[in-house]
Parts: sequence; C-alpha cells; structure tokens
Amino acid sequence: MARYTGAVCRLCRREGQKLFLKGERCYSEKCSIGIRGYAPGQHGQGRKKSSEYGLQLRAKQTARRFYGVQEGQFRHYFEVAERKPGVTGDNLLKILESRLDNVVYRVGFASSRAEARQLVGHGHFEVNGKRVDIASYLLKAGDEIAICEKAKASDKIKAVVEANSARPVPEWISVDRTNLTAKVVVLPNREQIEAPVEEQLIVEFYSR
Ligand code: SF4
Repeated sequence: MARYTGAVCRLCRREGQKLFLKGERCYSEKCSIGIRGYAPGQHGQGRKKSSEYGLQLRAKQTARRFYGVQEGQFRHYFEVAERKPGVTGDNLLKILESRLDNVVYRVGFASSRAEARQLVGHGHFEVNGKRVDIASYLLKAGDEIAICEKAKASDKIKAVVEANSARPVPEWISVDRTNLTAKVVVLPNREQIEAPVEEQLIVEFYSR
C-alpha cells in the first residue's frame, strides 16, 4: 500500500487523539485536535458507536499511524512479536520503539517521525560509526547513533535540534546534545513507552 500523502491532521482527527505527526504545530494552539476534535468528513460529527471489530481496527490504525509504518510492515512486526517469548503486545511496541526513525525523533534530532525518516533516508545518521539510511533499522541495547559530521554543520539540522531540545527524552535513551549523539541504554518496557496504543486490541485484531 502506498504511503499516505494527504493532510496528516486528518489522521489524528480520525483516531480522535494527538498522534504528533506534524512537529512543532502539534504542541501549539494550532493543533487541529483542539480546534476540530471530531472525525473528518461529512459524517465526522455523527459517528459515535464502534463495534468490537471497529475498536480493534482503530487501535491498529492508531499505532500504525503514530509510528508511520505501512500495513505490510506492521503485520510483519506483529508476526515477529508473536514468535518472540513474552507478551506479544509488549514485544510489538518494543520493536516499533526500536526503529531508528523513532529513536531519532524521541531524542529530539527531528521534529516528527516523518522528518526523522527523511533525515535518515538522506544519510545524515550513523549507527555505531557506520552510515545507516534505513529508517526501519532496528536498534539494540548499546547501539549508538550520531548525526554524521557533514550534517552537523548544516544550519537546518542545528535549527531542528535546537527547536526540540526541550522535549523530554525517554529514560531508556541517553543523549549528548553537544556532540549530537545518543545511545540506546536498554530497550524499553511497556511502562517506559509513551504511546497512545492499546496493544491488546491489536493482538485481538490480528487473532480474529
Ligand atoms: Fe495535526 Fe499534530 Fe495536532 Fe495531530 S497532533 S492534529 S498532526 S497538529
């Protein structure tokens, strides 16, 4: 399925909550959820009740949109999560959190996951000293990421890092804003993951 290229605020409105897809605007009064907090479309204000399936579908779509992952890849993550020992929902979230684009966003080296994906795709990041341009690259505990030397000199990157310097960084990642590096100290457990995701409903969705 092709990547969604429409107005991203519609996605938040569809899910009825902030998914933080637009960077700075998400933290401002201009956020569409605050202005028009109902689903988009002609019948957006009329839709109220959801079936069990509807709730499960929405939970899956919310997680997929929050992390910016396409349908096929999301299902693949679910299958991997299912095969791992432990709780499938927790495993799924851990995989999503360990994506390189997510970590770049979480440490404030990008304003949104979409921007992080773009910066990674343009080859501006290294993992353990080697350039990685795959946004879905899965990081492990102990991995170090760094903005590559050339990108460090870019005014755009400097402005992005500065603009996001006040955003709290999760405790499972350490960040060095002077050298523009970060380290995955440990992969997070569920309590350490701030995400509007009801993973049990996603498990139920794929177990139908
Ligand atoms: Fe738009 Fe961000 Fe608000 Fe979502 S959270 S509606 S992307 S401004």
